[in-house]
Amino acid sequence: MAWICPATTARRTDHVSLARAFVVHVVLLLLLLLLTLVLDVWGGARVPFWQAGAIPAAFDRYVTLLMSDFKASPVEFVLMLVGLGAFLAGAGVGLAFLAMPWAAGDERMVSSFRAALRRTWLGTSALLPAAWGFCLVLMILVTSRMQWQATDNTQWPDHPEAPANLRVNTPEFDAYVHEVEVYRQEVDRAFAEYRRRQPWYVRYDELLILMMLMTAGTWVLWVWLRFVSADRGLPPRDHPPLCEMCGYNLTGTELDRICPECGVPVRESLGPNARPGTPWERRTEFGIWAGWWRSAVGAALRPREFGRHLHARSRTLHFASFLASNLALLLLCAWGGWFACAAAMTWHGWPLVDYLDLFTSTGFLASITTMIALGLACLAAVATSLGYRLRDGSNLLPATIQAAAYLAPLLVLWTVFSGATALAVILLGSAFDDLATILGLRQYGFFATQLLQFAVWLVVNLLFLAAYVRWVVCVTAGARYANR
Ligand SMILES: [Zn+2]
Repeated sequence: MAWICPATTARRTDHVSLARAFVVHVVLLLLLLLLTLVLDVWGGARVPFWQAGAIPAAFDRYVTLLMSDFKASPVEFVLMLVGLGAFLAGAGVGLAFLAMPWAAGDERMVSSFRAALRRTWLGTSALLPAAWGFCLVLMILVTSRMQWQATDNTQWPDHPEAPANLRVNTPEFDAYVHEVEVYRQEVDRAFAEYRRRQPWYVRYDELLILMMLMTAGTWVLWVWLRFVSADRGLPPRDHPPLCEMCGYNLTGTELDRICPECGVPVRESLGPNARPGTPWERRTEFGIWAGWWRSAVGAALRPREFGRHLHARSRTLHFASFLASNLALLLLCAWGGWFACAAAMTWHGWPLVDYLDLFTSTGFLASITTMIALGLACLAAVATSLGYRLRDGSNLLPATIQAAAYLAPLLVLWTVFSGATALAVILLGSAFDDLATILGLRQYGFFATQLLQFAVWLVVNLLFLAAYVRWVVCVTAGARYANR
């Protein structure tokens, strides 16, 4: 059910023990492995799989193959299985770690982690329909390509044979070069004709597979985030009223007094107007654009003050839509950046692929970039709250994820700068060649220039990473002694 209404399913399964969630997780992973097995068997089948007896025969052959692998080197076989299991278990725990701030409430940090782990394990179920659906389409596409190829009768030209004792700078050599050139042109012509005769679902099958992969990936990600971030209905905890500036315990202090520790009026910490929520949260009041803009600018320019507006103890998911809007923007910027870089590489003599291919492959890279940005935002939130946890034992996860999300415009800016740096570094290729010579890096061969280019790009990215984490820490500092 997790893939139809993730939030409701998550709420209904919160009572499941961690051990049982783990068992469910393992069973679901085994089902996924079964799927790859089916694909493997089907891919290895020599006859079309719809013919009677084709699947059992292929399956038999597969089992024999596995058994012979096992007999050949049992230790390696078992080690490989254990390694695969350890990798999958590690991946689950790692994801739960990243999901921790999404599941967190006003509680101890270890409870937030347990909740994230339980929901990540149970949420594996979202992978199943996506994986099965994807594989079904994959099978249909690959089968139709095979069928089409069986009916195709393209005449491919033969490669000219090189004459014996061929030497450079002889008339025979020039004649041979000319023959090869003619052959190339013939192949190109035959290939264009071959492409033209293909039905669209064969011609664009790679594109279709890539689009399916991106859709399935996005959908799984969405279900998982909805699943882990569903409201857990935690009862409110009792906290002593604190001064929001310095954390002084204000129990028994009147509202019209000042904090005895830092002198800030108590009203600012405990009054009705303290912690109004972010402008994005109050967008019905300000309007969507103003709410978005004020949040983006406020978090970036006045991080600590912005942090004092966050609802850090009561549950809110408004930040998710703000983050999503920024990730959409980031996807477009990354797409443009990758496309520009690929075009610049082509300009510098890389073989040009078909523009459609370029468009989709850069789109794929851009979606990977977006996923990395989301992962970094979660990681920054987790790392910051772990830092505060070590300092004073508090659980600031609900505040740090909001800080990371409202600072997402910085991630967009980072993407733009990273793309611009990459483009500049590619366009200035010859300057980097000279630099490598000046620095005496030539002895390291052809890759010296590339390494230098990569180093410059990396430094820019590391600077942005450091700035982003610093800003997340700053916003969180403003929410450290939050009363609500
Ligand atoms: Zn104070």
